[in-house]
Amino acid sequence: MRVVIAMVKHETNRFSPVPTPLARFGVDGPLYGADALAGYRGTATPIGAFIDLAESAGAEIVTPIAAEAWPSGPVAEDAYRHLCDTVAEAVSQGCDAILLDLHGAMVTESIDDGEGALLDMLRGLAPDTPIAVALDFHANLTGRMVAHADVIVGYKTYPHIDMYETGRQAGRIGLAAAKGAVRPTMAWGNRPMLPHVIRQGSDDQPMADLLQMARDQEAAGVLAASIFPGFPYSDIADAGLSAVVVTDKDTALAEARCGALLNAAWVRREEFVYHGEPAAEAVARAARMDEGPIMLLDHCDNCGSGGTQDVMTVIREVLDQGLENTVIFAVHDPEAVESLVAAGVGAEVTINLGGKYAMPALGLEGEPLEVSGTVTGVSNGDFTVQGPMYTGVQVAMGRTAVLDTGKAEIVVIERHHEPWDTGCLTSLGIDPAAKRFILLKSRVHWRAGFRPLIKAEVECAGVGVTTSDYALLPFKHVRRPIFPLDPETGAEHENLPDS
Ligand SMILES: [Zn+2]
Repeated sequence: MRVVIAMVKHETNRFSPVPTPLARFGVDGPLYGADALAGYRGTATPIGAFIDLAESAGAEIVTPIAAEAWPSGPVAEDAYRHLCDTVAEAVSQGCDAILLDLHGAMVTESIDDGEGALLDMLRGLAPDTPIAVALDFHANLTGRMVAHADVIVGYKTYPHIDMYETGRQAGRIGLAAAKGAVRPTMAWGNRPMLPHVIRQGSDDQPMADLLQMARDQEAAGVLAASIFPGFPYSDIADAGLSAVVVTDKDTALAEARCGALLNAAWVRREEFVYHGEPAAEAVARAARMDEGPIMLLDHCDNCGSGGTQDVMTVIREVLDQGLENTVIFAVHDPEAVESLVAAGVGAEVTINLGGKYAMPALGLEGEPLEVSGTVTGVSNGDFTVQGPMYTGVQVAMGRTAVLDTGKAEIVVIERHHEPWDTGCLTSLGIDPAAKRFILLKSRVHWRAGFRPLIKAEVECAGVGVTTSDYALLPFKHVRRPIFPLDPETGAEHENLPDS
């Protein structure tokens, strides 16, 4: 058996000014062939699971490409073509199964549904070959994706700590289909709702209940049940909540279970609505708390959703209010890193930090902040993830410097990196557990590594292209009406039967 295994992943934020060329897919671009296999074998990712499954099955494994970029603006057209063509070339040489590790919210400069177009192309090349896909929890599922895949399974956790299990589930069904042991049938659908990303945590309600419902459906016999709260910032027609259920040739069962998931989500739509607290008030509230570490979250500038990671609003508030024994992760500012590294450890410096990106979608210019302090650390920014999310994956933050103001240690990095694993600090010799305040540019993924350490968490509504205030985002493409942008949406969806 010959199995093509590939990863092509991007979560596109249409409001992000950060460009997405091919070089962004990996440290120096994508990994190919044997490098892709070696780079992801043994990692807690879908592609890592696909490799394990295919090896156990004694299959001939072809890994044309492994490419994942940090979320950012639409993918450059030439990059997208290259990613697709590389997978297509491997498939066109013939195979018995295709296992794909995709995101599900990729938008290019000309295509709203990057994964749908890729799957359509592959299906055209291999009409009878099973295609099994693992998707991110933040996929915006489309009819085109479902039409051109045989199996789709999404993560059931946010933070995403079940990537391996998701890949294993999708891959097993795909390989079983290749042997003729099952005939996967899918039903999918969506509801006109855009759940706030900050309210999608899988330990929080209503997501915890909805995910349990999907697990219960699997325990009761469907091959896979997935519910996707979606990624609003992609701003495509199909952005928002969707579900897909896979059965063994039982269309009616798949439709009934999918409808049940969607109805359960719809009736709880109000619970997904986020009500924010302005940064100044949130920081002041945190300052009055007794016991640390206290987690402060700059969720409106989260590079894990396409943020520039250089907006200084919340950081300025923390510095102005004089919070002591604080660590801040991180400001993405290659220019500042250059000057901090050049100054060297021990140097006293004053620099204009952050604010290098303008954010035209929000009508904002970049606003650097003048910060004075001592350079207390310089590193190459490499570490291996030990925690539960992306376990075993090599992280490359680029050259990294620590600027200590006396009250706050500010980490400055060359490459975007959302802090989901404590390694981003411990690799610099900083112990987050010893800090009174930890300010992270993150929304939910930080919980994977940091939640066990902290005593309280405070969400600080700052500024940025991952703002949790959807009234600030110039949505153009998402279907309307949609809840909560249009609060009266969808009375016709009330009291639908589950089947
Ligand atoms: Zn995600």
